[in-house]
Amino acid sequence: RVDIVDARKSFGTLEVLKGVNLTVKPGEVTVIVGPSGSGKSTLLRAINHLEALSAGYIAVDGEPVGYRLRGGKLHERREKDILATRTGIGFVFQNFNLFPHLTVLENVVEAPLVAQRRNRQEVTAKALELLDRVGLADKAGVYPRQLSGGQQQRVAIARALALEPRIVLFDEPTSALDPELVGEVLDVVRDLASTGTTLVVVTHEMGFARDVADTVVFMDQGRVVESGPPAQLFGNPREERTRTSLSKVI
Ligand code: ATP
Ligand code: MG
Repeated sequence: RVDIVDARKSFGTLEVLKGVNLTVKPGEVTVIVGPSGSGKSTLLRAINHLEALSAGYIAVDGEPVGYRLRGGKLHERREKDILATRTGIGFVFQNFNLFPHLTVLENVVEAPLVAQRRNRQEVTAKALELLDRVGLADKAGVYPRQLSGGQQQRVAIARALALEPRIVLFDEPTSALDPELVGEVLDVVRDLASTGTTLVVVTHEMGFARDVADTVVFMDQGRVVESGPPAQLFGNPREERTRTSLSKVI
């Protein structure tokens, strides 16, 4: 579960998040949509404390990733503790970010071995199972450059899942892909959603949002304009801004 309370973020004089409030319930799929520059990536990165807020509060399962509450005040945590918490939060980026010098299997086992210090045999077995699940059982020994973009992104998803995260964050997982490769990646995310993993997905794929989201969040200019079930956001939005923006893309 994620609780976001009055989250604010400025870069210099540019206020990018202007008081965002949002709750992500466990086991649900939350899809964030909105125009370019509205602050979606910044918000997602703030959940993981890849971006520190200027004000406000974000907690994952009741605890902020970057801070510790002591004596009624928030104190910044040590980098080591932040990294440890972060391993429980999967993050899948637009550009895959695979290690080019490691094979597919090595990419998937790297973090569980190094960051979580888990047993190699157990981690390898789990990684092969995950590669099978994303349809890449036969690619374990090849290097990322030998794969299509869609295949690379499916490896990135397997890699995120190998950490056995409580929640997985996706930032436009298909926007760098050729159109014919989008479906295979969304199918993997869809499959993940059906298993009850908590997901937060930033995407421009409105069909996906409509089919898979429990909650759609429409952001514009650093604020949540409206959030609710897909039927409401797409079919009967309360806000005029939601209507004009989402009707444009359908
Ligand atoms: P897109 O759909 O294009 O990915 P977005 O909704 O994800 O857009 P953000 O990436 O969160 O938007 O950016 C919001 C605003 O913050 C933009 O105006 C962007 O230029 C600015 N911004 C983001 N990161 C930084 C940074 N590190 N330094 C300065 N400005 C930044
Ligand atoms: Mg973005």
